[in-house]
Amino acid sequence: MTTTMTHTRTATAAEAATPLLELRHVSRTYRLKRPLPIGPHRIVSALDDVSLRLGDGETLGVIGESGCGKSTLGRIVSGLEAPSSGQVLFSGEDVTRLGKAERKEMRRNIQLIFQDPSASLDPRKTVGRIVGEPFEIHRGLVSPERRRAKVGELLELVGLNPDHADRLPHQFSGGQQQRIGIARGIALEPRLLVCDEAVSALDVSVRAQIVNLLADLQREFGMSYLFIAHDLQIVEHMSDRILTMYLGRVVETGPTREVYENTSHPYTGALLSAAPELRTGRGIEREHVVLSGDPPSPIDPPSGCRFRTRCWMATEICATTVPQPVTIAGRSSGSGRPDDAGSGESAQLGTASAGEDSGTASAGEDSGSASARDASSTASAGTTAAQPAGTHTAACHFAAEVPAALSLTTTAHPTTTPEETR
Ligand code: ADP
Ligand code: MG
Repeated sequence: MTTTMTHTRTATAAEAATPLLELRHVSRTYRLKRPLPIGPHRIVSALDDVSLRLGDGETLGVIGESGCGKSTLGRIVSGLEAPSSGQVLFSGEDVTRLGKAERKEMRRNIQLIFQDPSASLDPRKTVGRIVGEPFEIHRGLVSPERRRAKVGELLELVGLNPDHADRLPHQFSGGQQQRIGIARGIALEPRLLVCDEAVSALDVSVRAQIVNLLADLQREFGMSYLFIAHDLQIVEHMSDRILTMYLGRVVETGPTREVYENTSHPYTGALLSAAPELRTGRGIEREHVVLSGDPPSPIDPPSGCRFRTRCWMATEICATTVPQPVTIAGRSSGSGRPDDAGSGESAQLGTASAGEDSGTASAGEDSGSASARDASSTASAGTTAAQPAGTHTAACHFAAEVPAALSLTTTAHPTTTPEETR
């Protein structure tokens, strides 16, 4: 890949000890209008007590059904919204306490890639202007005379023709438009990219190309990703670690391979079992667990474990006790991407040949990136202490009580069959 970007950075020892991003007990509520002129406001609990850590160069994949708070999390991390309570630390600094100038610098370091590329690009502006816009907001980084050349470099970096800088967004395909969005996102050389369903709106044939582009850019520039997507295979491909969310809360977190192959939480198991391509293979045979109904309303979430109303293993205690997230031990999130993932061998997601996109993102065999993930070292997210590699911290009480039932393999099906099993 051709590049003249300058910012491949090496974390200092102090930074390595401090995660790039840390959320401590973050909650976010929204106050809705009263249904009647009198009476209480209704409060939506979109995020509740969310803690996480993300290291330099690392990717944290966020999964969970629609409405579980993924986008709210993305907005809070990218500074578009403040949490109602809790702390957001970037390089160890509480972002809510930053002054104006420091906050602007922080914003520069965290960029968001949106789901719908066409909606996120101003149709009246040329692509060159869109990509160069961050330099107008953050003046002094690139001189006005150099901007055009810099925009050309960025377009080339994301696999677009620099000569097309004067075209308008509608003259590009969906995949190319997302490349434009990515070029704008990386223009200021951020340290963290929040990708909120960044490939979900794209044709399947183009998706893998954009995913591979994001992976290439990360390898090259050492950015961290908060990667939100509902395609569980893509999340697996991209992520070092996984965070499963349910109704605003984190229910499980751990290294990708561990979470995917050794699922501890019944909800994560149900989610993964819904993806046919993840049901079998790699020595796993998952039973398809179909969850009954939709998640309850975040206006009046269930007491105790919020998943209990759909959990086939729920007992009385689930109504009264809020479980800690199940934390599967893995490598530390403070140390960045594992060495093997940075070896220059590019794990590429298989691309369909019919892609409309003639970008630089290359096709390749699906080498199953999870195999490149390191599951050694210490516990990384959540509130639990370090555990020996591979052990499960059964912080959720039913994980402690019925461990066999939690392994969604052919050898250990849930004792109580869920609603419907295929
Ligand atoms: P996801 O991205 O996982 O689909 P969201 O973060 O968009 O979930 O939403 C989480 C919950 O918060 C949903 O119930 C949603 O309706 C609610 N919500 C999000 N933003 C607002 C808002 N601005 N006002 C009221 N409710 C909101
Ligand atoms: Mg969303």
